[in-house]
Amino acid sequence: MHTHTVKAFGTEAPDADLKQMNIDRREVTSKDVEIDILFCGVCHSDLHTARNEWHSTIYPNVPGHEIVGRITRTGNGVTKFKVGDLAAVGCMVDSCRECEYCKDGLEQYCEKGNIQTYNGADKHLGKQTFGGYSERIIVDEDFVLHVPENLDLAATAPLLCAGVTTWSPLKHWKVGPGQKVGIVGIGGLGHMGVKLAKALGAHVVVITTSPSKVADAKRLGADEVILSKDENHMKANAKTLHFILDCVSAQHDINAYLSLLKTNGTLALVGAPEQPLPVAAFSLIPGRKNFAGSTIGSIAETQEMLDFCGKHNITSDIELISIQQINEAYERLLKGDVKYRFVIDMASLKT
Ligand code: NAP
Ligand code: ZN
Ligand code: ZN
Repeated sequence: MHTHTVKAFGTEAPDADLKQMNIDRREVTSKDVEIDILFCGVCHSDLHTARNEWHSTIYPNVPGHEIVGRITRTGNGVTKFKVGDLAAVGCMVDSCRECEYCKDGLEQYCEKGNIQTYNGADKHLGKQTFGGYSERIIVDEDFVLHVPENLDLAATAPLLCAGVTTWSPLKHWKVGPGQKVGIVGIGGLGHMGVKLAKALGAHVVVITTSPSKVADAKRLGADEVILSKDENHMKANAKTLHFILDCVSAQHDINAYLSLLKTNGTLALVGAPEQPLPVAAFSLIPGRKNFAGSTIGSIAETQEMLDFCGKHNITSDIELISIQQINEAYERLLKGDVKYRFVIDMASLKT
């Protein structure tokens, strides 16, 4: 297949810095759109993958799955987009489209595995997929989202992963008025979880390791804040929450958080630390508690979330960086030193 060379930023090895490189993008086929990437969010999954923390990275790796841009070309079978439209791409660019989950509109749970925007199996070029830290991307229109016109574009990018990854479990577990919902870890995902749970009408309780985030958590929409390192504070809040969304990227004692659930409550993990999280039997048994997980969200859910955010004027709190600052940004992300999502101004790659 004919390909185009595109400038990108990526890494060649787990311990190497990200640097500028060239990658191939396929020709636009009938159902494809070409997107000129304007902004790309920096997810902790980008860092886990660049550094091979999940032991499945194929190098070179070009991360980035919080993509917003403008359509520059369309295939002749494209019906949902035209040149000049705003468009967005999240964590998936395709799936098998035939299994029971794909047919049910749950492509993220595709039996064959959804095709991830980066480090996925590129069925067109036969290599790994390359993500949004690049000038342009070519994607089948079925996996491309419409962007509300009223939102700040840079601050919209993080909705494509952090937004939908928190939206999907909040909707699945029917979070809403009358419920006390805990959000653990106020990073990119967590801060979106707070905003979305609040907008869905829940009573929101932030659980953080960072005393410095207490005031901010309230500004983001939290009704209460629990400091997880304060054992007395945790004990005083035992058995108070209906649902907990755990957005933590590193090792943590899951039993301490399960103790906050009411009987029949659910703790859903979206955070994906490298090592297993040991669960004590008696953290679950006495209160018939559920320990669950959730991955990203479907294309339909992503559009639903974007439309909801457009209507309620919800975006991410961001720090805009140039692509040349990405290695420094990863170091700061590891320290929790970002309020609350780095977004790359992709114009910096073009200069
Ligand atoms: P992030 O911005 O780095 O936020 C992680 C937060 O976790 C930190 O801000 C911190 O919040 C808390 N934290 C860090 N170390 C901790 C520790 N040792 N104990 C307790 N809390 C700790 O990361 P992110 O981009 O939001 O991503 C979070 C996780 O979700 C990552 O593992 C990422 O790979 C994963 N993820 C999963 C999916 C999915 O589909 N399931 C999608 C996207 C991302 P406080 O300062 O408030 O404690
Ligand atoms: Zn992500
Ligand atoms: Zn499938």
